[in-house]
Amino acid sequence: AKRQGRNTWQWYKEGFRQRINARCLLRHDMQVALREQQFELYYQPIVEAFSGRIRSVEALVRWQHPEHGLISPAEFIPLAEQTGQIITLGRWVLRHACQSMANRLAQGERVFPVSVNISPLQFRRDGFLDEVTRILDETQLPPELLELEVTESILMRGAEQAIALIGKLRERGITIAIDDFGTGFSSLSYLRDLPIHRVKLDRAFIQDILTCSGNAAIVQGIITMAHHMNLQVVAEGIETFDQQRDLGRRQCDLLQGFLFAKPMPLDRLQALPDRLPEA
Ligand code: C2E
Ligand code: CA
Ligand code: CA
Ligand code: CA
Repeated sequence: AKRQGRNTWQWYKEGFRQRINARCLLRHDMQVALREQQFELYYQPIVEAFSGRIRSVEALVRWQHPEHGLISPAEFIPLAEQTGQIITLGRWVLRHACQSMANRLAQGERVFPVSVNISPLQFRRDGFLDEVTRILDETQLPPELLELEVTESILMRGAEQAIALIGKLRERGITIAIDDFGTGFSSLSYLRDLPIHRVKLDRAFIQDILTCSGNAAIVQGIITMAHHMNLQVVAEGIETFDQQRDLGRRQCDLLQGFLFAKPMPLDRLQALPDRLPEA
Protein backbone atom coordinates (compact mmCIF):
# COMPACT_ATOMS: atom_id res chain seq x y z
CA ALA A 1 0.00 0.00 0.00
CA LYS A 2 3.01 2.25 -0.56
CA ARG A 3 1.63 4.05 -3.57
CA GLN A 4 -1.95 5.01 -3.09
CA GLY A 5 -1.91 8.06 -5.37
CA ARG A 6 -1.81 7.43 -9.05
CA ASN A 7 -0.85 3.85 -9.28
CA THR A 8 -1.91 0.30 -9.60
CA TRP A 9 1.18 0.29 -11.64
CA GLN A 10 0.21 3.39 -13.60
CA TRP A 11 -3.19 2.04 -14.34
CA TYR A 12 -1.70 -1.11 -15.55
CA LYS A 13 0.79 0.44 -17.90
CA GLU A 14 -1.56 3.05 -19.33
CA GLY A 15 -3.99 0.56 -20.86
CA PHE A 16 -6.91 1.86 -18.77
CA ARG A 17 -8.77 5.06 -18.08
CA GLN A 18 -10.01 3.67 -14.80
CA ARG A 19 -7.97 2.32 -12.04
CA ILE A 20 -10.53 -0.27 -11.05
CA ASN A 21 -10.31 -2.07 -14.40
CA ALA A 22 -6.56 -1.91 -14.32
CA ARG A 23 -6.61 -3.64 -10.95
CA CYS A 24 -8.90 -6.37 -12.19
CA LEU A 25 -6.76 -7.15 -15.18
CA LEU A 26 -3.53 -6.98 -13.18
CA ARG A 27 -4.96 -9.42 -10.71
CA HIS A 28 -6.00 -11.76 -13.50
CA ASP A 29 -2.63 -11.47 -15.23
CA MET A 30 -0.82 -12.29 -11.99
CA GLN A 31 -2.92 -15.43 -11.75
CA VAL A 32 -1.79 -16.39 -15.23
CA ALA A 33 1.79 -15.48 -14.35
CA LEU A 34 1.75 -17.82 -11.37
CA ARG A 35 0.36 -20.63 -13.51
CA GLU A 36 2.74 -20.05 -16.39
CA GLN A 37 5.83 -19.45 -14.28
CA GLN A 38 6.48 -15.89 -15.38
CA PHE A 39 8.02 -15.06 -11.99
CA GLU A 40 11.76 -15.32 -11.46
CA LEU A 41 14.11 -14.85 -8.57
CA TYR A 42 17.11 -12.55 -8.63
CA TYR A 43 19.75 -12.67 -5.92
CA GLN A 44 21.73 -9.84 -4.37
CA PRO A 45 24.90 -10.47 -2.34
CA ILE A 46 25.21 -9.28 1.26
CA VAL A 47 28.84 -8.78 2.29
CA GLU A 48 30.79 -8.65 5.50
CA ALA A 49 31.56 -4.97 6.13
CA PHE A 50 35.21 -5.38 7.12
CA SER A 51 36.28 -7.92 4.52
CA GLY A 52 33.87 -7.59 1.62
CA ARG A 53 33.35 -11.35 1.66
CA ILE A 54 29.93 -12.52 0.50
CA ARG A 55 28.03 -13.90 3.48
CA SER A 56 24.58 -14.48 2.02
CA VAL A 57 22.25 -13.49 -0.81
CA GLU A 58 18.76 -12.00 -0.73
CA ALA A 59 16.17 -13.48 -3.09
CA LEU A 60 14.14 -10.77 -4.83
CA VAL A 61 11.22 -11.65 -7.04
CA ARG A 62 10.77 -10.32 -10.60
CA TRP A 63 7.93 -10.65 -13.04
CA GLN A 64 8.99 -11.40 -16.58
CA HIS A 65 5.88 -9.88 -18.11
CA PRO A 66 5.05 -10.99 -21.67
CA GLU A 67 4.30 -7.41 -22.78
CA HIS A 68 6.02 -5.09 -20.34
CA GLY A 69 9.31 -6.88 -19.70
CA LEU A 70 10.96 -7.29 -16.32
CA ILE A 71 8.72 -5.79 -13.61
CA SER A 72 9.89 -4.72 -10.16
CA PRO A 73 8.19 -6.20 -7.11
CA ALA A 74 7.49 -2.66 -5.88
CA GLU A 75 4.85 -2.61 -8.63
CA PHE A 76 3.05 -5.85 -7.92
CA ILE A 77 3.78 -6.97 -4.34
CA PRO A 78 1.44 -4.34 -2.80
CA LEU A 79 -1.41 -5.49 -5.05
CA ALA A 80 -0.62 -9.14 -4.40
CA GLU A 81 -0.93 -8.34 -0.70
CA GLN A 82 -4.31 -6.69 -1.24
CA THR A 83 -5.70 -9.58 -3.29
CA GLY A 84 -4.19 -12.32 -1.13
CA GLN A 85 -2.19 -13.65 -4.10
CA ILE A 86 0.92 -13.01 -2.01
CA ILE A 87 0.19 -16.31 -0.27
CA THR A 88 0.64 -18.35 -3.44
CA LEU A 89 3.42 -16.14 -4.75
CA GLY A 90 5.23 -16.17 -1.41
CA ARG A 91 5.06 -19.96 -1.24
CA TRP A 92 6.47 -20.18 -4.74
CA VAL A 93 9.31 -17.80 -3.82
CA LEU A 94 10.23 -19.75 -0.69
CA ARG A 95 10.15 -23.10 -2.43
CA HIS A 96 12.02 -21.86 -5.47
CA ALA A 97 14.77 -20.16 -3.43
CA CYS A 98 15.28 -23.28 -1.29
CA GLN A 99 15.18 -25.64 -4.24
CA SER A 100 17.62 -23.57 -6.28
CA MET A 101 20.17 -23.32 -3.48
CA ALA A 102 19.77 -27.01 -2.62
CA ASN A 103 20.40 -27.92 -6.26
CA ARG A 104 23.59 -25.92 -6.28
CA LEU A 105 24.69 -27.62 -3.09
CA ALA A 106 23.99 -31.05 -4.59
CA GLN A 107 26.01 -30.12 -7.67
CA GLY A 108 28.97 -28.96 -5.63
CA GLU A 109 28.57 -25.36 -6.72
CA ARG A 110 29.18 -22.33 -4.55
CA VAL A 111 26.30 -21.81 -2.13
CA PHE A 112 25.31 -19.01 0.21
CA PRO A 113 22.66 -18.74 2.87
CA VAL A 114 19.58 -17.35 1.11
CA SER A 115 17.34 -14.63 2.58
CA VAL A 116 13.68 -14.79 1.63
CA ASN A 117 11.22 -11.93 2.15
CA ILE A 118 8.08 -13.04 3.96
CA SER A 119 4.95 -10.90 3.76
CA PRO A 120 3.12 -10.32 7.07
CA LEU A 121 0.04 -12.07 5.65
CA GLN A 122 2.09 -15.14 4.84
CA PHE A 123 3.79 -15.13 8.21
CA ARG A 124 0.58 -14.79 10.23
CA ARG A 125 -1.26 -17.49 8.35
CA ASP A 126 -1.90 -20.78 10.16
CA GLY A 127 0.43 -23.44 8.95
CA PHE A 128 3.34 -21.19 8.04
CA LEU A 129 5.72 -23.13 10.26
CA ASP A 130 4.57 -26.41 8.69
CA GLU A 131 4.99 -24.95 5.25
CA VAL A 132 8.57 -23.89 5.92
CA THR A 133 9.35 -27.26 7.52
CA ARG A 134 7.87 -29.14 4.57
CA ILE A 135 9.78 -27.08 2.02
CA LEU A 136 13.07 -27.66 3.84
CA ASP A 137 12.26 -31.37 3.98
CA GLU A 138 11.34 -31.68 0.35
CA THR A 139 14.22 -29.63 -0.97
CA GLN A 140 16.76 -31.00 1.52
CA LEU A 141 18.15 -27.53 2.07
CA PRO A 142 20.00 -27.37 5.41
CA PRO A 143 18.05 -24.90 7.61
CA GLU A 144 21.26 -22.99 8.30
CA LEU A 145 21.15 -21.90 4.67
CA LEU A 146 17.73 -20.27 5.05
CA GLU A 147 17.09 -16.81 6.43
CA LEU A 148 13.66 -15.20 6.63
CA GLU A 149 13.17 -11.45 6.43
CA VAL A 150 10.04 -10.17 8.14
CA THR A 151 8.97 -6.61 8.92
CA GLU A 152 8.02 -5.33 12.32
CA SER A 153 4.39 -5.13 11.17
CA ILE A 154 4.10 -8.84 12.05
CA LEU A 155 3.88 -7.61 15.63
CA MET A 156 0.89 -5.36 15.06
CA ARG A 157 -1.71 -8.05 15.53
CA GLY A 158 -0.78 -10.72 18.00
CA ALA A 159 2.76 -9.86 19.02
CA GLU A 160 2.96 -12.81 21.38
CA GLN A 161 2.06 -15.27 18.66
CA ALA A 162 4.62 -13.73 16.34
CA ILE A 163 7.33 -13.94 18.99
CA ALA A 164 6.51 -17.61 19.67
CA LEU A 165 6.60 -18.44 15.97
CA ILE A 166 9.96 -16.75 15.51
CA GLY A 167 11.23 -18.79 18.44
CA LYS A 168 10.13 -22.02 16.75
CA LEU A 169 11.69 -21.09 13.43
CA ARG A 170 14.88 -20.29 15.24
CA GLU A 171 14.80 -23.67 17.02
CA ARG A 172 14.64 -25.27 13.59
CA GLY A 173 17.95 -23.60 12.75
CA ILE A 174 16.54 -20.86 10.54
CA THR A 175 17.95 -17.33 10.76
CA ILE A 176 15.51 -14.46 11.21
CA ALA A 177 16.03 -10.82 10.28
CA ILE A 178 13.81 -7.80 10.81
CA ASP A 179 13.64 -5.96 7.49
CA ASP A 180 13.18 -2.21 6.99
CA PHE A 181 14.05 -1.79 10.60
CA GLY A 182 13.26 1.61 12.05
CA THR A 183 10.61 2.56 9.50
CA GLY A 184 7.63 1.07 11.32
CA PHE A 185 5.73 2.36 14.26
CA SER A 186 6.59 -0.20 16.89
CA SER A 187 8.60 0.70 19.91
CA LEU A 188 12.22 -0.32 19.95
CA SER A 189 11.77 -2.18 23.21
CA TYR A 190 10.15 -5.09 21.39
CA LEU A 191 13.59 -6.03 20.12
CA ARG A 192 14.43 -7.27 23.57
CA ASP A 193 11.75 -9.94 23.36
CA LEU A 194 12.30 -11.07 19.79
CA PRO A 195 14.53 -14.12 19.29
CA ILE A 196 15.96 -12.82 16.02
CA HIS A 197 19.51 -12.78 14.67
CA ARG A 198 19.77 -9.51 12.83
CA VAL A 199 18.14 -6.29 11.78
CA LYS A 200 18.28 -4.64 8.39
CA LEU A 201 18.50 -0.86 8.25
CA ASP A 202 16.31 0.58 5.57
CA ARG A 203 17.89 2.34 2.62
CA ALA A 204 16.04 5.50 3.61
CA PHE A 205 18.45 5.95 6.53
CA ILE A 206 21.52 5.12 4.48
CA GLN A 207 20.78 7.33 1.48
CA ASP A 208 21.74 10.60 3.13
CA ILE A 209 23.73 9.34 6.08
CA LEU A 210 26.67 11.57 5.15
CA THR A 211 24.62 14.74 4.98
CA CYS A 212 21.86 14.24 7.50
CA SER A 213 23.12 14.14 11.05
CA GLY A 214 19.70 13.04 12.28
CA ASN A 215 19.80 9.87 10.18
CA ALA A 216 23.41 9.24 11.13
CA ALA A 217 22.42 9.42 14.79
CA ILE A 218 19.54 6.98 14.28
CA VAL A 219 21.81 4.56 12.46
CA GLN A 220 24.50 4.77 15.11
CA GLY A 221 21.92 4.35 17.86
CA ILE A 222 20.42 1.27 16.23
CA ILE A 223 23.85 -0.32 15.67
CA THR A 224 24.93 0.27 19.26
CA MET A 225 21.68 -0.99 20.69
CA ALA A 226 21.61 -4.05 18.41
CA HIS A 227 25.14 -5.01 19.41
CA HIS A 228 24.22 -4.80 23.07
CA MET A 229 21.53 -7.35 22.29
CA ASN A 230 23.92 -9.54 20.31
CA LEU A 231 22.20 -8.80 17.04
CA GLN A 232 23.96 -8.19 13.75
CA VAL A 233 23.13 -5.16 11.64
CA VAL A 234 22.82 -5.11 7.86
CA ALA A 235 22.79 -1.77 6.02
CA GLU A 236 21.01 -1.89 2.67
CA GLY A 237 21.22 0.48 -0.26
CA ILE A 238 24.98 1.12 -0.12
CA GLU A 239 25.83 2.86 -3.39
CA THR A 240 29.09 4.72 -2.69
CA PHE A 241 32.50 4.09 -1.16
CA ASP A 242 31.85 6.92 1.27
CA GLN A 243 28.76 5.16 2.59
CA GLN A 244 30.69 1.91 2.84
CA ARG A 245 33.45 3.61 4.85
CA ASP A 246 30.98 5.42 7.06
CA LEU A 247 29.01 2.28 7.93
CA GLY A 248 32.26 0.40 8.49
CA ARG A 249 33.39 3.04 10.95
CA ARG A 250 30.09 2.71 12.74
CA GLN A 251 30.77 -1.02 13.19
CA CYS A 252 27.90 -2.10 10.97
CA ASP A 253 28.34 -5.85 10.39
CA LEU A 254 26.99 -6.47 6.91
CA LEU A 255 26.41 -4.37 3.81
CA GLN A 256 24.20 -4.72 0.77
CA GLY A 257 23.81 -2.43 -2.21
CA PHE A 258 24.57 -1.60 -5.81
CA LEU A 259 28.16 -0.71 -4.86
CA PHE A 260 28.80 -4.42 -4.32
CA ALA A 261 26.39 -5.98 -6.78
CA LYS A 262 22.91 -5.55 -8.18
CA PRO A 263 20.40 -8.36 -7.90
CA MET A 264 21.25 -11.00 -10.53
CA PRO A 265 20.05 -14.36 -11.85
CA LEU A 266 21.28 -17.34 -9.85
CA ASP A 267 23.76 -18.62 -12.40
CA ARG A 268 25.71 -15.37 -12.23
CA LEU A 269 26.57 -15.96 -8.55
CA GLN A 270 29.09 -18.56 -9.56
CA ALA A 271 31.27 -15.99 -11.31
CA LEU A 272 31.40 -13.46 -8.46
CA PRO A 273 34.81 -12.76 -6.92
CA ASP A 274 35.40 -13.70 -3.26
CA ARG A 275 35.35 -10.09 -2.20
CA LEU A 276 33.17 -7.21 -3.29
CA PRO A 277 33.26 -4.60 -4.69
CA GLU A 278 35.53 -5.80 -7.47
CA ALA A 279 38.75 -3.82 -7.65
P1 C2E B 1 13.51 -4.93 0.31
O1 C2E B 1 13.23 -6.24 0.92
O2 C2E B 1 13.84 -3.79 1.21
O3 C2E B 1 14.66 -5.21 -0.75
C1 C2E B 1 15.67 -4.32 -1.05
C2 C2E B 1 15.36 -3.55 -2.32
O4 C2E B 1 16.36 -2.55 -2.50
C3 C2E B 1 15.39 -4.40 -3.59
O5 C2E B 1 14.46 -3.83 -4.50
C4 C2E B 1 16.81 -4.15 -4.10
O6 C2E B 1 16.96 -4.38 -5.48
C5 C2E B 1 16.96 -2.69 -3.77
N1 C2E B 1 18.35 -2.30 -3.63
C6 C2E B 1 19.40 -3.03 -3.17
N2 C2E B 1 20.53 -2.31 -3.16
C7 C2E B 1 20.20 -1.08 -3.61
C8 C2E B 1 20.95 0.13 -3.84
O7 C2E B 1 22.15 0.21 -3.60
N3 C2E B 1 20.26 1.20 -4.32
C9 C2E B 1 18.93 1.15 -4.59
N4 C2E B 1 18.33 2.23 -5.08
N5 C2E B 1 18.18 0.02 -4.38
C10 C2E B 1 18.82 -1.06 -3.90
P2 C2E B 1 13.43 -4.77 -5.29
O8 C2E B 1 14.09 -6.02 -5.73
O9 C2E B 1 12.79 -3.89 -6.33
O10 C2E B 1 12.36 -5.14 -4.19
C11 C2E B 1 11.53 -4.15 -3.63
C12 C2E B 1 10.76 -4.69 -2.46
O11 C2E B 1 9.81 -5.67 -2.88
C13 C2E B 1 11.63 -5.41 -1.42
O12 C2E B 1 12.25 -4.46 -0.60
C14 C2E B 1 10.59 -6.24 -0.71
O13 C2E B 1 9.90 -5.47 0.23
C15 C2E B 1 9.65 -6.60 -1.84
N6 C2E B 1 9.96 -7.95 -2.32
C16 C2E B 1 10.87 -8.37 -3.22
N7 C2E B 1 10.83 -9.70 -3.39
C17 C2E B 1 9.88 -10.15 -2.55
C18 C2E B 1 9.35 -11.45 -2.23
O14 C2E B 1 9.78 -12.49 -2.76
N8 C2E B 1 8.34 -11.53 -1.30
C19 C2E B 1 7.87 -10.39 -0.68
N9 C2E B 1 6.87 -10.53 0.23
N10 C2E B 1 8.33 -9.16 -0.95
C20 C2E B 1 9.33 -9.04 -1.87
CA1 CA C 1 14.26 -7.60 2.27
CA1 CA D 1 14.71 -3.92 3.35
CA1 CA E 1 13.08 -1.39 1.86
